[in-house]
Amino acid sequence: MSKIVILGAGISGHVAAAHLRRKLSKEHEVLVVSPNSNYQWIPSNIWVGIGRMKSEQILFPLAPLYKKKGIGFKQAKVVTFHPEGDQELDKPYVVVEHVTGRKNREKVTYDYLINATGPKLNFEATEGLKPGTNKAYSVCTYSHANHAWEALEKLIQEMKQGKKAKILIGTGHAKSTCQGAAFEYILNVEQELRRHNVRDKAEITWIANEHELGDFGMDGMLLSYGGMTMKSKEMVEMVFEDRDIKWIIGAGVNKIEDGIAHYETLDGDYKTETYDFSMLIPAFSGHGFTAYDKVGKDITQKLFKGFMIVDADYSPKPYEEWSVQDWPETYQNPSYSNIFAPGIAFAPPHAISKPRKSKNGTPISPSPPRTGMPSGITAKLVADNIIDTIKNEGKTSLHHKGSMGNMGAACIASAGYGMTKGSGISITTFPIVPDYNKYPNTQGRKLGKTFGEIGLAGHWLKLALHYAFLYKAKMKPFWWLIPE
Ligand SMILES: Cc1cc2nc3c(=O)[nH]c(=O)nc-3n(C[C@H](O)[C@H](O)[C@H](O)COP(=O)(O)OP(=O)(O)OC[C@H]3O[C@@H](n4cnc5c(N)ncnc54)[C@H](O)[C@@H]3O)c2cc1C
Repeated sequence: MSKIVILGAGISGHVAAAHLRRKLSKEHEVLVVSPNSNYQWIPSNIWVGIGRMKSEQILFPLAPLYKKKGIGFKQAKVVTFHPEGDQELDKPYVVVEHVTGRKNREKVTYDYLINATGPKLNFEATEGLKPGTNKAYSVCTYSHANHAWEALEKLIQEMKQGKKAKILIGTGHAKSTCQGAAFEYILNVEQELRRHNVRDKAEITWIANEHELGDFGMDGMLLSYGGMTMKSKEMVEMVFEDRDIKWIIGAGVNKIEDGIAHYETLDGDYKTETYDFSMLIPAFSGHGFTAYDKVGKDITQKLFKGFMIVDADYSPKPYEEWSVQDWPETYQNPSYSNIFAPGIAFAPPHAISKPRKSKNGTPISPSPPRTGMPSGITAKLVADNIIDTIKNEGKTSLHHKGSMGNMGAACIASAGYGMTKGSGISITTFPIVPDYNKYPNTQGRKLGKTFGEIGLAGHWLKLALHYAFLYKAKMKPFWWLIPE
């Protein structure tokens, strides 16, 4: 009998738990440890942040589903890792702290461990950037998105009374990622203001650490669009110009005061931008976990490099020497073969966009994007390798592989809501990490599989994904037929 412990019930942890439970017989234990009592479909936070969906529509409680499916659940957070056990306990374990009741701690042993704890939303890395203060908000969780909508709704009412307002949306740190989510939110806010007939009262500005529009933390891309080939920069510029959205790029936001964003530019200038409402994505970081060996010696560096260390090539190299082969394929920790980290939890070997510094030496460029599709795919392949290993009587089997260098990503920025009113800007990239050897003439991407589209179809797709992925997450009949 094997016990598989999964840390985190986001896209990655939940996908892993579902596949493990479906494919392993009941003699094996599957246990999820996660602090939030709910599953949330994060991409639909955008619609919560414009008041077009209630948070109840994008979440459901985990405990009843897990009970029904035979998956153990502890509403707790992992605190420390002990992959060799300790002097008293001859089994690997993690210490978890319950988040309800008396907040007691306990040791949870495992045979296999999946760390799917995603990112820490590191608001503290930017002075004053605390969601709900200084007129700055976030849509990274459903409660943040709710607060954002409350503030935006209030501002819309004031605009209806004649107030002129400034809205600032983008990245809130020089090294933030998730430009795609901010891009989707700015388009939705713009559309919502038009729906409320107050668009003429608002000046809307995009602020980002990208050196050019449409970089998205992926070094930009060359897209097929209609019958043409177009740069993502040109496409985003066209969309922003069409909607009268201004932009500030190459900007490392470093301090927020009440309605004022302070930032440094790649040119080395220090500037400010005022606003009445902002949504700024924070930096993402690892959670700051620590790890100990059998005798209690700190071995954190064997498990973590910010995020968790996996089978990537972490040797420091200049940008010109980066290669898709640096990216991990099995998400297995090299020191402990029974520990895996799919989704956002693994440490990327390097950024994807060319790192840039301001004239003052401040690094200002996006961190690698960590989107939902790869999070689901890597979770499933980790689950499949563990299943094979268990069926192989414990002999490690790593046949299932997938690197961000041979995986695609779809950024569907729906703008608006409803069956006929919305529109969508869909950008599909293949592969996520550019492969300059395979596709030397098209900036590392396969044209045809890397394309952009504008229109209602993208919006419908986004809505369809919302319903399909919630159906899948609820493990309704034949859920496994829906791909990750
Ligand atoms: C607003 C927004 C919109 C987005 N839109 C899209 C989109 O349209 N398409 C797309 O592909 N991607 C999108 N993304 C990205 C996508 O949401 C992420 O890639 C995905 O959620 C990552 O999954 P994950 O499981 O690795 O991490 P998460 O989903 O962050 O899950 C991490 C889990 O770990 C838990 N956890 C945290 N700390 C601990 C601890 N100490 N112990 C145990 N558990 C812990 C958390 O509670 C959570 O359950 C969006 C992201 C945002 C913020």
